[in-house]
Amino acid sequence: KKKVIAIDGPAGAGKSTVAQRVAAKLGYTYIDTGAMYRAAAWKVLQENSMDALTDEVILQTVKDIDVRLQYINKVTKVFVDGVEVSDQLRTPAVSRVVSQVARLGSVRKKMVLLQRKMAQNGAIVMDGRDIASYVLPTADVKVFLTASVEERAKRRFAQMVKKGYKVDLAELKEEITARDKADKERTISPLVKTEDAVLLDTTFMSADEATEKILSLVLK
Ligand code: C5P
Repeated sequence: KKKVIAIDGPAGAGKSTVAQRVAAKLGYTYIDTGAMYRAAAWKVLQENSMDALTDEVILQTVKDIDVRLQYINKVTKVFVDGVEVSDQLRTPAVSRVVSQVARLGSVRKKMVLLQRKMAQNGAIVMDGRDIASYVLPTADVKVFLTASVEERAKRRFAQMVKKGYKVDLAELKEEITARDKADKERTISPLVKTEDAVLLDTTFMSADEATEKILSLVLK
């Protein structure tokens, strides 16, 4: 059977790394829902200055946005209004505003519609914040992936340095803490572990170990 696998958790827990490996092992499609919200945030920053971001400005900017995900040969490409923006979604600026964009109901409605459409034929691994709780409540396997905030900040730091960004570990920890708080406390589809999700704390676990653990749940 082609299964549906939902992986939720806070920023920097290793969701995308682990979800991609699980998808590769199973020959499934990987869907990065964070990238979709980041795409909306990217457009918001593209068209407005950072200090002018009211909810109205954000809604106006993303009203007619066309976000597309393409997963080919194990690579995710993201398009906004037909333009590829894949490499521009993990910048500190996008990370800073994305939760403000993602808390808006009409933004979420649009993204969730697309996410459900992409999942309808199964054989997918989807990661995000509200996949098990809202987007795909009937998923075959639900995993809540987490790690201590210190460990998550360290991982993000290593990732950013590798990509050539100049970042500060303490600042990154603050950004992640703020994003966790915004994601957990928003009214619509907050970040939450559902009762039926398996908790996987990866603070002392490698990505390979976490991948194996999830595969064992899928093949059970
Ligand atoms: O996973 P990633 O860090 O790329 O997600 C970026 C942001 O997008 C999250 O901090 C959250 O605000 C938002 N998001 C969301 N719902 C999802 C996935 C991401 O609100 N399913």
